[in-house]
Amino acid sequence: MKNFVRTIQDYPIKGIQFRDITTLLQKADLFHELIDEMTEPWEGMKIDAIVSIEARGFIMAGAIAYKLNTAFIPMRKPDKLPADTFKVKFDLEYGSTEMHLHKDALDNHENILIIDDLLATGGTAAAAVKLIQMFENKNIVGAGFIINLPELGGEKILQKLDVKTHSIMEF
Ligand code: AMP
Repeated sequence: MKNFVRTIQDYPIKGIQFRDITTLLQKADLFHELIDEMTEPWEGMKIDAIVSIEARGFIMAGAIAYKLNTAFIPMRKPDKLPADTFKVKFDLEYGSTEMHLHKDALDNHENILIIDDLLATGGTAAAAVKLIQMFENKNIVGAGFIINLPELGGEKILQKLDVKTHSIMEF
């Protein structure tokens, strides 16, 4: 699968090696394998809902939620969710942004899995953890990614937050 992730130099800004997963997703057999491999570590665990990070996280999270029989909860950028939200502001590898969750999104969901495409500095995933912790009595089972960039330290940040991580490949 790693051979089908395309690297674009200096995108979206100079100095960033952008890992483009569209070239992996466009292969039907590899998309199938990807979903199976992202699902496998969480099978048999008690998971009620997947909190998925806009926008590339949605691509895998819907399929994984279907396989694990869980709810699908979108974590979204500002002005996308129509009802009342909790929000967290955080820094990215490039720029800063905010993420939101509907205040009633986790009603009746205790055990939560986070899914995104890529773990870099961990800012986005840590924001997801903080957002989920704004709700009462939630247990974060783990966080799953296609790609981990270990040099950027995101995995360590999640370890410090006591969140188990899984990824398919590293760059
Ligand atoms: P971070 O918050 O630094 O862990 O960044 C993770 C988020 O930013 C993910 O949702 C990725 O989609 C995106 N991202 C960060 N760095 C890259 C990169 N080098 N290539 C592709 N996407 C990236």
